[in-house]
Amino acid sequence: MIRHDDLINKVRSYEPNLDPMVLGAAYTFSMSRHSAQRRASGAPYFSHPAEVAVILADLRLDVASIITALLHDTVEDGVAELHEIESQFGPIVAKLVDGVTKLGKLELGRDTTFQQAENFRKLLLAISEDIRVLLVKLADRLHNMRTLHYITNSEKRLRIARETLDIYAPLAERIGMEEMKDELEDLTFAELQSEARGSIVRRLDSLRNTDATVIPTVINELAETLQKSGVKANIMGREKTPYSIWRKMARQEVAFEQIADVVAFRAVVPSEDDCYRALGIVHRAYPTVPGRIKDYISIPKSNGYRSLHTTVIGPGKRRIEVQIRTSGMDEVAEYGVAAHWIYNTAHNDAPPQQEGFRFRWLRELLEILENASGPEEFLEHTKLEMYRDQVFCFTPKGDLIALPDGATPVDFAYSVHSEVGDHCVGVKINGRVAPLKTRLQNGDQVEILRSSGQTPDPNWEHFVVTGKART
Ligand code: MN
Repeated sequence: MIRHDDLINKVRSYEPNLDPMVLGAAYTFSMSRHSAQRRASGAPYFSHPAEVAVILADLRLDVASIITALLHDTVEDGVAELHEIESQFGPIVAKLVDGVTKLGKLELGRDTTFQQAENFRKLLLAISEDIRVLLVKLADRLHNMRTLHYITNSEKRLRIARETLDIYAPLAERIGMEEMKDELEDLTFAELQSEARGSIVRRLDSLRNTDATVIPTVINELAETLQKSGVKANIMGREKTPYSIWRKMARQEVAFEQIADVVAFRAVVPSEDDCYRALGIVHRAYPTVPGRIKDYISIPKSNGYRSLHTTVIGPGKRRIEVQIRTSGMDEVAEYGVAAHWIYNTAHNDAPPQQEGFRFRWLRELLEILENASGPEEFLEHTKLEMYRDQVFCFTPKGDLIALPDGATPVDFAYSVHSEVGDHCVGVKINGRVAPLKTRLQNGDQVEILRSSGQTPDPNWEHFVVTGKART
């Protein structure tokens, strides 16, 4: 368990204006209030909130979030009252603790569909008020998953693991916390399919032992190739998690014979220009694998992720995946919404900015929520939209519209504006007239044909996929 002074030093390393008294007070408050409780592991209960605080400090989150992490279970466990927290730590922390406590009471995986939907709605409302509530909740869930094996009741373990996979891992992904998502999924995998995971871990271990020089060789050669052409790059290799390897194997996208097959190589370069130059250099040096080039710089993922991806037959004729990005893009890729924080709100007390591209999905869910006729309907729409892959289309003017995979021109029309949807009579896709139920493809240019006399056709309901169009 992290010591009082170590936590203060850790937070002070990125937040020089930290008032150590307040953080220290939260540490001792939580430790003394939880003193009578133990974790399933037998450890003192306080080890849990302390670890949650460490997870968030590693993400360099603001002091209010760290204090909330320390206090997050005191009210739920009945060892403190909200008004005590408010008088000692102020209204912002009290509100955050209250938000996390309310999330804790939502048992998302267990109840009837109706309750599940209602709970999911409450969850979205809580996190839309202050995204820090979700960050603390995710760190809480991550630590609970890391210590899940101590719980003896297998039904309880299973329920927690399922809920993690269904709700929390996708939410982590949505806010761009890629590493947290990977770890949550992998811990779930260990619980739900421990033998499958074990076999992958054993294979990785033996490859790591036999091919110990492969990864450094690839890294050196890539660095030299780029250097020779004048691009200074910092190259790293990160092994994929057993879960993501398993999933890729299931989709038959990876046969895994060498350790390099399951490592994503990353080149971090000084500028956006250098990203494209580096891509060109890599492509001239090695044969590319067709269909594997992705440009998430010109079209970022909906969670803000930006990077160039390619796969080449690289050093030693090994097929390798290379991701190319700047250090700024790399921070967003690692920390997601937390990176946003580091840049914009590290030095003032303003609540995190929740506008913009990154949170569009949240606003859209809330809009649907206003219009949905009942919670079941809401859940059906939101779940679908949260889990689906996206397809990107363009308006005739070149504006980008992101839609769930399988979306049709009617979905497109409603996502431009409900007026456009209501009066839609036909569509031209890439300049050609097409049926309204056509499934849109990445890169399609979509022109909606309108007539003011037209009203929505009830048949549309059979093929639209977005909640916006359905409502
Ligand atoms: Mn907790």
